[in-house]
Amino acid sequence: MPFDYDLFVIGGGSGGVRAARIAAAEGGARVGLAEESRMGGTCVIRGCVPKKLMVNASAYPKALQDAAAYGWDVQAGAFDWPKFRGLLGAELTRLETAYRGTLRNAGVVVHDARASLADAHTVRLSTGQTFTAKHILIATGGWPFVPDVPGADLAVTSNEMFDLDTLPQRALIVGGGYIASEFACILNGFGTKVTQIYRGPQILRGFDEEARGHVVTGMQAAGIEIRCNADVARLDRSSGGIVATDLSGAQIEVDLVLYATGRRPNVQGLGLEQLGVAFGQFGEVIVDEWSQTAVPSIYAVGDVTNRVNLTPVAIREGHALADTLFRAKPTKADHAMVASAVFTQPELGAVGMTEEQAKARGGAEVYAATFRPMKTLFAGRQDRVLMKLIVDAQTRVVLGCHIVGPEAGEMIQLAAIAVKMGATKEDFDRTVAVHPTMAEELVTMRKPTRTHPAI
Ligand code: NDP
Repeated sequence: MPFDYDLFVIGGGSGGVRAARIAAAEGGARVGLAEESRMGGTCVIRGCVPKKLMVNASAYPKALQDAAAYGWDVQAGAFDWPKFRGLLGAELTRLETAYRGTLRNAGVVVHDARASLADAHTVRLSTGQTFTAKHILIATGGWPFVPDVPGADLAVTSNEMFDLDTLPQRALIVGGGYIASEFACILNGFGTKVTQIYRGPQILRGFDEEARGHVVTGMQAAGIEIRCNADVARLDRSSGGIVATDLSGAQIEVDLVLYATGRRPNVQGLGLEQLGVAFGQFGEVIVDEWSQTAVPSIYAVGDVTNRVNLTPVAIREGHALADTLFRAKPTKADHAMVASAVFTQPELGAVGMTEEQAKARGGAEVYAATFRPMKTLFAGRQDRVLMKLIVDAQTRVVLGCHIVGPEAGEMIQLAAIAVKMGATKEDFDRTVAVHPTMAEELVTMRKPTRTHPAI
């Protein structure tokens, strides 16, 4: 019996939408897609997009101070959070509509329903409908994880941050990853007194240590209190807000507690276990390099597979799958040298090897420059930028690049092209500087700052 669809995608986020669109529009496949919430997934609805707009909004007080330092007669006035929230909501609705339009134009049939698997080729929707499909793609993303701490229900997660009734005057942010650090800076920019509490010795674990240090210095200088080697023991409601007690017994009263302690793959209730799909230690769907699960007709892409949990990676995985299944172009997603940015203030951009990894491997040179950029130096700020390259001492290939400073995300995107291409330090040096810029430092660092001998 023929299948209802060639491909049925569960999840309308970055990875699922890309796979569906390419399969239908370019692969000629009959594609169905089920989404239980709003189209666009975490990135568009409750992640990257609203977060970046909040980063932009929160950066204006500093920009206005700088404008005044440059001679402008400006008064910041107050921030109208409900007005911004309304504009943000309208923008997300516009994007969601655009996503739906793109899928419709591609010929994808969208089902606004929750889906689960009845068997390896059958999807059952919450509407009661069932559909058969030759291939089924799980692209259900992740969901915030909150540890089991007494009073944790008093806290919010990143999901709720874009719909707050009011901005808090005092906030406690738990965690030291991307989300915790970005929201610490956002709220601080809005004027909230922010305390960030992290269980390890330094936030942003996994990034280059010197780069993390620069971010922390900048965040602290901006007024954020970062408490490391500490964790919340319990939360209690008080007459003035929420009291957080840490493991040492110290207490802090705040208006808002944000838990940003990681995300977990969204696999609950999909019915995958009975079918023989394998899971990893965090509940992630185990797939091979073709994004295929242990059940041949079932695939998975994006955060639900917990490979590299970034939107552009999910998009590549989804695209590669559609190419493989429907365009006679067998393609594996490439997870090497993926650049990323943390939109803290200051921003951090990174690609490739950290200095710690280079040291452990041996045979590396480190070129690092820190300086006060012209723009904010003129405004009297102490902000420092970091430009750093990790170079293989023998082949001269640039193994890693780390940038801290304004627009580091934009800069690392461009540097990542050269690094991904295997450029050498000499290739960087042959490139004439663009002056006066911050990024010119990447091509003018002549002497290694440190060397790590071969082991
Ligand atoms: P991360 O994995 O980046 O950070 C989680 C943080 O929570 C870590 O500091 C971790 O500590 C801490 N933590 C974990 N479990 C506990 C616990 N039980 N008690 C106390 N602390 C705990 O997750 P995020 O939630 O920040 O982000 C999720 C994903 O989303 C990231 O993997 C990232 O890829 C993606 N993302 C990307 C962004 C970007 O590209 N700019 C922005 C936002 C998110 P420890 O370090 O000790 O493990």
